Amino acid sequence: MQIKFLTFILALLLIVGGCSNAVGSQTVPGSETNSQDNNPLQGIPISAVEPDIFTLQLGVAVQGTVDYHDINSMAVLVNKQNKLPADYVPTDLVETNIPFASYVGSEQKLLRQEAAENLEALFAEAEKNGLILYGVSGYRSYQTQKAIFNNNVRKYGDETKANKISARPGESEHQTGLVMDVTSQSVAYSLVTYFADTAEYSWLKDNAHHYGFIIRYPQGKEIITGYIFEPWHLRYVGKDLAKILYENNLTYEEYLFFAI
Ligand SMILES: [Zn+2]
Repeated sequence: MQIKFLTFILALLLIVGGCSNAVGSQTVPGSETNSQDNNPLQGIPISAVEPDIFTLQLGVAVQGTVDYHDINSMAVLVNKQNKLPADYVPTDLVETNIPFASYVGSEQKLLRQEAAENLEALFAEAEKNGLILYGVSGYRSYQTQKAIFNNNVRKYGDETKANKISARPGESEHQTGLVMDVTSQSVAYSLVTYFADTAEYSWLKDNAHHYGFIIRYPQGKEIITGYIFEPWHLRYVGKDLAKILYENNLTYEEYLFFAI
């Protein structure tokens, strides 16, 4: 694993160097450098170098395969290089039976059924530990994400600034119906980085994987994921995959890189 890790770091350095040149030599409209574009995997779309379904080769107990290209898979990979179609709507969305912050609209209470059931179990277990969690934002349609992004473009003046705080439509994991942003009373039901300082987050980060969820954008992995630390953003990937990612301290992008 150590050798693989060193290989990974070396690869990252090469890729980062390569990206710098590419950015300097050509400008693609709408892809200006910003915090979410600093993804070292940019330029080598995983889809271009991996088979659709592959056998995992980590030095850890791994069973089966991960079909990250299937938009209906619990393991679907969504990021700047792997976008969802505009017309993609999960067919099994259900209202999640958890407490929500009072300002949450009906669409964002939806999750795909398997994710909803596991999130309900996760929230129930948290409550047994004296921790009350609240949902804020689950499913988001392509059109909703487009409206959010366009609103931020108007608010901040251009797409680069807007993209620092919101994903472009098709690039948001929320469209999968496998994500719920969560919060607590102790942070006034908001989505803020200092949610990481709460007892709720402290419990979540070590227990979410038992229910198939991961902290998708962890602290210190911003250059890998392309997103700032979001302690509130829980992504359902299924219990087997969540356990591997948690136990190996890997983001989903790192995991796929190792698995090649
Ligand atoms: Zn989120």
